[in-house]
Amino acid sequence: MPKQNPLAVGIDLGTTYSCVAVCQHGKVEIIADDQGHRTMPSFVAFTPAERLVGEPAKSQASLNPQNTVFDAKRLIGRKYEDATVREDVKHWPFAVVNHEGKLKVQVSHKGKLQTFYPEEVSAMVLAKMKQTAESYLGCSISQAVVTVPAYFSDAQRQATIDAGAIASLQILKILNEPTAAAIAYGLNAKSPEGESRNILIFDLGGGTFDVSILSVEDGIFEVKATAGDTHLGGEDFEKRLVDYLAKEFKKKYKEDILQDKKAMQRLKMACERAKCTLSSCSSANISVDSLYQGIDFHTTVTRARFEDLCADLFRATLKPLGRALKDAKMRKTDIKDIVLIGGSTRIPMIQKLLKDYFHGKELCKSINPDEAVAYGAAIQAAILTGNQTPTMKNMFLLDVTPLSLGVNTQGGVMATIIKRNSPLPTKETMEFTTTEDDQDTILFMVYEGERALTKHNHLLGTFTLKGIPPAPCGVPVITVTFSVDENNILTVSAKDVDTGNTSQFTISDTRGRLGKEEVEEIVQKAAELRAHDVSQQEKVEAINSLESCTLELKRAAEEDVLDVAAKRRMLELCKSTTSWLEASPSVEKEECEQRQRDLEETWESICNTLVQEEGVEEMPGEDQADADGGDPPEEMD
Ligand code: AMP
Repeated sequence: MPKQNPLAVGIDLGTTYSCVAVCQHGKVEIIADDQGHRTMPSFVAFTPAERLVGEPAKSQASLNPQNTVFDAKRLIGRKYEDATVREDVKHWPFAVVNHEGKLKVQVSHKGKLQTFYPEEVSAMVLAKMKQTAESYLGCSISQAVVTVPAYFSDAQRQATIDAGAIASLQILKILNEPTAAAIAYGLNAKSPEGESRNILIFDLGGGTFDVSILSVEDGIFEVKATAGDTHLGGEDFEKRLVDYLAKEFKKKYKEDILQDKKAMQRLKMACERAKCTLSSCSSANISVDSLYQGIDFHTTVTRARFEDLCADLFRATLKPLGRALKDAKMRKTDIKDIVLIGGSTRIPMIQKLLKDYFHGKELCKSINPDEAVAYGAAIQAAILTGNQTPTMKNMFLLDVTPLSLGVNTQGGVMATIIKRNSPLPTKETMEFTTTEDDQDTILFMVYEGERALTKHNHLLGTFTLKGIPPAPCGVPVITVTFSVDENNILTVSAKDVDTGNTSQFTISDTRGRLGKEEVEEIVQKAAELRAHDVSQQEKVEAINSLESCTLELKRAAEEDVLDVAAKRRMLELCKSTTSWLEASPSVEKEECEQRQRDLEETWESICNTLVQEEGVEEMPGEDQADADGGDPPEEMD
């Protein structure tokens, strides 16, 4: 039998929901968790005793808002002082702290304040997806293709790779979400051979918005342009609804709920449900019992009101459309298919705006908007590990850079070295020189962004070229080379042409990204947390086992024919065990196991005594069917 290559999974690591898929036996499967959910909330909660990930974390969020972390994708790869972070923290119930320019979330866990990098939180979500896949597939998974918004910056991509390493997952490829969706769509919507088809992927999720235009021809997926907003999605729409209802509440009850994190979290969850209802109904009821100071809050929101509250945000999705078409050098009529991805594309007004923009063209809704990205990532994972099916054999991806890359020059002007939407991999070189006589060092500041002045763009990092021999200004020739690999990861180097001196910029030097040692330290910490989770789970199992053993023996002692003393002894032991369990919130696994052994041994000795004294053949409680009216036990000789 041919040897099967190790399986790798595709993971859609979403802002609000994540999804994992695998391609095996010639087909792609979305992997459901143990409760049958095909997507998992990207939530992590910390309690005094344990760490929860996914659905259990989200469902306890309103009771434990300060220690329930979500939106890690809105933090990853960003700096503490980023304007978007400063705006977001106003709405999050958990704390975000500054740790030497890098940001961390702060929660109370196991009785003390602890901080975690966004990479660590994302790693916890990734580890959960890995675990879900492993228990479904029955084998260990160590490799994955993970998707990110096409518009993610270099720092955000690097940080996602770090999150994979922390979760013990080797990231085979960082794939752009719209590209993954196009693969999923393209695999099922084939064009006649030799015919090219332009697909526009409109991806509006929980926190990010992406537009990508791809041309697909004979299995080759070529990204022509991408545009979007890493900070626009369903959560922003919800926030509008929450703010509106908080104002309504204040108007009606003269009470301000904005500072009450638990109330705000409960209102937010009600608003998410209402928002989803409004996609199929013209009005939605919002009902939160005892929302604040014992006041029950019941109200109705109409679709028209919701659309009015979000009108500017909805319209903001059109701007990147124009930009993507312009960059792809296409007209609206060149687009063959408009594919909707991401839960927020279910909003009717979004669909209407998009349809109107394309002069009434029908939108493709044939693929599941929540699962398509993971589906495409699983196909890519299968290709990269040699597990592809014949239909995937000739598939080939050609991606592009989402943002322009360059360096700062005199007057703070951005010298763009690689233009946005350049096909990957790409490498460009530009010449620079000194600005002063006998200048022996040059400081290069590397930026990404589209603005003419670097102060409006995003600083990726700085590096210095030293040892330039004395010369009048403008004479030395320094070449700066930018190269971007298939994962959109940038490497920069500078060379003094005369001396051959070179300097290379490693992205890990930037303040926004974790250093190698930090990642190693976190990997160690994650392993400790995992070990704690396992021991916590074992403890819960030991408690459950002791509880059910106690109940079972109590019932048996009550029902079986025991002498009064033996019955009392057994019932007292059961009672003291139950009281011990109720009174000790933090019992140890070993203690539970010992108590269970004591119970079982006591019961066994009672039974043995009974057999010896009365010559009873069966142990008490062994044949309950008989006691319940089955055949009577056979008479002994
Ligand atoms: P995604 O990131 O693609 O998983 O999308 C998640 C976002 O889609 C969340 O903000 C959800 O609240 C939102 N969403 C899911 N279903 C609907 C719906 N029927 N109407 C409006 N928004 C939805």
